[in-house]
Amino acid sequence: VCPTGAITIKKNTREVWEEIFDPKKRVVVQIAPAVRVALGEEFGYAPGKNLIGKITAALRKIGFDAVYDTSFTADLTIMEEAAELIKKIESGNNEFPLFTSCCPGWVKYVENQHPELMEYVSTCKSPMQMMGAVLRDYYGSIDKEDGKTTVSVAIMPCTAKKAEAAREEFMTEGRPDVDYVITTQELADMIKEAGIVFNELHPEGEDMPYSLYSGAGVIFGATGGVMEAAIRRVVEDKSHQSLKEIEYSGVRGMKGIKESEVPFGNSVLRVAVVSGLQNAETLIKKLQNGEVKYDFVEVMACPGGCIAGAGQPFSHLKDKKKRTEGIYDVDGSEQIKCSDCNPAVIDLYDNVIKDRAHEMLHVHYQK
Ligand code: SF4
Repeated sequence: VCPTGAITIKKNTREVWEEIFDPKKRVVVQIAPAVRVALGEEFGYAPGKNLIGKITAALRKIGFDAVYDTSFTADLTIMEEAAELIKKIESGNNEFPLFTSCCPGWVKYVENQHPELMEYVSTCKSPMQMMGAVLRDYYGSIDKEDGKTTVSVAIMPCTAKKAEAAREEFMTEGRPDVDYVITTQELADMIKEAGIVFNELHPEGEDMPYSLYSGAGVIFGATGGVMEAAIRRVVEDKSHQSLKEIEYSGVRGMKGIKESEVPFGNSVLRVAVVSGLQNAETLIKKLQNGEVKYDFVEVMACPGGCIAGAGQPFSHLKDKKKRTEGIYDVDGSEQIKCSDCNPAVIDLYDNVIKDRAHEMLHVHYQK
C-alpha cells in the first residue's frame, strides 16, 4: 500500500453521472490549476496548452450546474498561509519552518513518518477543501429554498485528493465538503462517454463569484508556485520589477530541492521548495541535524508538483516542462498577479467569511 495514498486509485465517474442525472441534485464542480494544461493531451493537443475555456464548455455539456476554479481558493489559501507564516515568525518559534499543507500526499507522509513535525504543518485547508467549504456555505441557504441538494465535485490532477476529501476532518454534519474527486483522466473519460467533440467546443467562462483568480493562484499547479505566490503576498513592493525579481529568485524550475532568500521587512525570508518525497526526507534530515534553517518550506509529493500528478495523462519529463510553461504563461497574461489583489477574495472576506475564517478555512488533523 502506498504510504501517501497517492496511488490509491478509485474511479468515481459512475457515481458522478448518477448525481448529474438525479433531478433533485444540483451538481457543482471545481477545476484545479494543473488540469487545464494537461487534459488536452487526451484529445491530441500539445502538453501545456491551456484549455480552461473548452474544459468549462465540456463540463456544462456534461450537465454540471456551475463550474468554479480552484485557483480562486488557491488565492484564499495564500491569504491564510501568509498570515500564519508572519504570525509564526513574529512569535519567535522559528526552530523549524512552517510547511505547506496543500498536498495530501505530503500531509499523509508527515503523519506516518514524521508525526513530530505535524505541529509545523500549516493548518490551512488545501485549495480544494477551502472551495468545498465555501461552496457548502454558499449553497446551504439556496438548497433550503429550492429543496435541492448540492453535490460538490472536484477535478484534480491527483489521486491522493480522493483520500483527502474522504477524511473525517473535512466532513460537515457527517457529509464530506467535497463529495467526489475525479482525476484529469477520469474527466477525459466522461467527455468521451458523453460523445462530446472536445476539439470543436467554443471556449466558455467559468461561473462567478468563485472563479476570479490571480496569477499567484494559478501557479499553484507547478512546483515552487505556492512559494512564489506566498512571497508575492508578503512583499510590500508588488511592482512588475519586484515580481520579476521573485520569479528569478530560484523558486521556479524542476530541481527537487530549491533554496532562496528574499528581502522581508528589515530581514530576509529563508525558503525552500521541495518536490518528491525522497527529497523531502533529505531536507527533513538536514533540518533535524541543524544543517539548514528556513522560515517556510513548500513540499509537493509529486516530482514537478501537481502538473505531474498521478491523475494526469501519462507524461515524460519534457511534457511536464511544457505543462509548467503553460501554467506560467497563464500567470503571465493575468492582470491580477497577487492573491491579496483579487477583488473576489477581498469581497469574500468582507461580506461572507467575516469572522469565520478560522472555522471555515483551517483544519486540525486528528492524531
Ligand atoms: Fe496530489 Fe501530487 Fe499535487 Fe500532491 S503534488 S497534491 S500528490 S498531484
